[in-house]
Amino acid sequence: MNTPATVLIVDDEASVRKLLELFLRNQGYTTLIAACGTDALAMVELHAPDLILLDIMMPGMDGYEVARQLKADKATSNIPIIMLSALGEHGALLSGLEAGAEDFLSKPVDSAELWLRVRNLLRLKSFGDYLKSHNLMLEEQLQQRTIDLERFRSAMDASGDAIFLVSRKTMQLIEFNRRACEVLGYTAEELLRKKPADLVDSSTRQLEQLYDKIIAGRGPSEPTETRLHCKSGAHIPVEIHRQAYKSADDWIIVGIARDISQRKEADQRILKMAHYDTLTGLPNRKLFFTTLQMGLTQAVLSGWQLAVVTVDLDNFKHINETFSHLQGDKVLATFAQRLSNCLNASDTLGRMDGDEFAMIMIVREGQPGPQQIVERIREALREPYELNGQYTSMAASMGIALYPGDGEEAVSLIKHANTAMNRAKKLGGDTYRFYTAEMNVEALARQDMEVALRDAVKQQAFSVFYQPKMSVADDSICGLEALLRWQRPGLPDVSPAVFVPILESAGLISEVGRWVIGDVCRQMAVWRLAGYAPLQVAVNVSGDQITKGHLVADIEQALSEHQIDAKWLEIELTESSLMENTAHTIARLQALQQLGVKISIDDFGTGYSSLAYLRRFPIDKLKIDIAFIREVTSNPQDAAIARTIIELAHSLNLTVIAEGVETPEQLAFLAVNGCDQAQGYLFSKPLPLEALEVFLRDRQRLS
Ligand code: C2E
Ligand code: MG
Ligand code: MG
Repeated sequence: MNTPATVLIVDDEASVRKLLELFLRNQGYTTLIAACGTDALAMVELHAPDLILLDIMMPGMDGYEVARQLKADKATSNIPIIMLSALGEHGALLSGLEAGAEDFLSKPVDSAELWLRVRNLLRLKSFGDYLKSHNLMLEEQLQQRTIDLERFRSAMDASGDAIFLVSRKTMQLIEFNRRACEVLGYTAEELLRKKPADLVDSSTRQLEQLYDKIIAGRGPSEPTETRLHCKSGAHIPVEIHRQAYKSADDWIIVGIARDISQRKEADQRILKMAHYDTLTGLPNRKLFFTTLQMGLTQAVLSGWQLAVVTVDLDNFKHINETFSHLQGDKVLATFAQRLSNCLNASDTLGRMDGDEFAMIMIVREGQPGPQQIVERIREALREPYELNGQYTSMAASMGIALYPGDGEEAVSLIKHANTAMNRAKKLGGDTYRFYTAEMNVEALARQDMEVALRDAVKQQAFSVFYQPKMSVADDSICGLEALLRWQRPGLPDVSPAVFVPILESAGLISEVGRWVIGDVCRQMAVWRLAGYAPLQVAVNVSGDQITKGHLVADIEQALSEHQIDAKWLEIELTESSLMENTAHTIARLQALQQLGVKISIDDFGTGYSSLAYLRRFPIDKLKIDIAFIREVTSNPQDAAIARTIIELAHSLNLTVIAEGVETPEQLAFLAVNGCDQAQGYLFSKPLPLEALEVFLRDRQRLS
């Protein structure tokens, strides 16, 4: 307070005023003067003094009244008043106090006493003024804070994230927003009683460590993923972003938790799509493989034995073709369900591809082993499947490879189980095989053969042998079957029964098949020129040539190039190749039949052999499989089958031929039962060209 205090002197006596003025100015105070009560009030209003010296007895408004009015007004009530009373005015003290005055001085005024009182009162006033202004400031601050806090609260409440303020000192929640209550399902009162560790996946100890790191500026740079524990018991995945603020001697940790359930769900869905098969819900090939790798790591550590079993449905193509892909899917789903029912809880089942499944089994003593489970599976699969109200039965081929005996790595175990499964398939299906080392040798040999065959295709190292077909009634030659041969210089002959399937799986059969057709037609043209009587020649055709190749175009091209009438060409197809893509196959065969080409079903009796089926295909001839002819004279069942096929063929106006006829007894049986044609070693083996021509000339000479 550097400005001098202002004192207002109110007295009706000019001499008194003068004297007081003198005293006060002497002490450095500024003075104001009023000669009556009314002037005093007006002056105060104009310029509020720091203190008033107020005479009691004045004409008009007396000092009491002035004091009363000043003290009644809030703006002036804090101005201290010293009443001046003449000696002997008894009772003045009391009335002055009543009117609100702070102090008294008797006239005549003693200068020292005046200074003392004035100084003390002014000190008191300035302290009061200070307090008042300080309170005012505090009040303003409080108000401002309240406004800030409300703003902060409403901002917090407007946030879609849950916000928590935690005291590091007490490890208690001190503030949170409305969203926090909504998300957690607690009321604000309930939530205030919770510790942060009650709400997340971490313990108080862990949170303390985390908070201290954040305080030290070494907190995680990315939001932390955790789960909020709700009142309902549910857990909500969130990511929490935390920051620390200094507050007096404490640190406040602000945590902002964002609900990431949707993102997590999407992640899960993507993960599921990438790792699970949608039809069956089973792990796909990729996940199965990783599971197997993990299982093997575990097996190494704990000395377990594992079995990898691969399963493939037999003739599943047939289901897809006969019914629909939708029905096929239904069968696969049921199949998967049945498989999984057969497994132990710790085993894994996966879908590798199409109708291929695979299992990982832990082999434990006292629990069913792989063989028992595989038997169990065969049993379960035999139950008929319902398809469009019809019941059909299914079977599967399975292969088993054991860890550590048959391999130590996932790749080799799956490969070996597959090799064993293919073996089971070759044995006619509906069975299983354990992997053996010989199978591997075979598989390698097969790979070698594939390489050699690719070479043979390039070198055109193939030739055609011909086997005559005889008319049963008059023992005359009624046709030839062209049979493919593969010459390997210095190596034993390989049967087409072995190498044709390899050509098929290597995707080479269409090319080789086209060559056979061309070569046969070329040969027929040569014979015509040489003057031989025309003979019908049958060519074996693979399913792939119809479904993947251009069989019709290839045949048309060969026939026209060598000027051969289509009626002299016959194709032999197995039943299974008819089933591959029925609608397409039927259309191709019809086109061939329209050209005049004859169509024959080879190896009849070994496939589906359904009459209803046959009717759908445009065919001219059935060839009874060698399997029924072999024991046709000794096995009554085979005899019955052969007889039935002959009758069936005739009832459909088809020609019927028997293959593999080796004895006169077999021929006699066929003659008695009305079989039209026969083919076999009894007449001739398949012959190379020169030998065939000798055979034909001998026969023609005979006739
Ligand atoms: P397939 O069409 O059923 O041919 C009949 C097979 O039986 C031939 O075997 C033939 O030599 C053999 N055979 C004939 N008579 C007798 C007999 O009296 N006793 C015995 N035990 N066997 C007899 P091959 O020539 O080894 O042919 C095997 C299979 O290879 C054929 O069976 C056919 O499915 C396939 N094949 C042959 N040539 C071709 C071809 O050019 N294309 C296609 N896609 N497959 C072919
Ligand atoms: Mg044939
Ligand atoms: Mg055959």
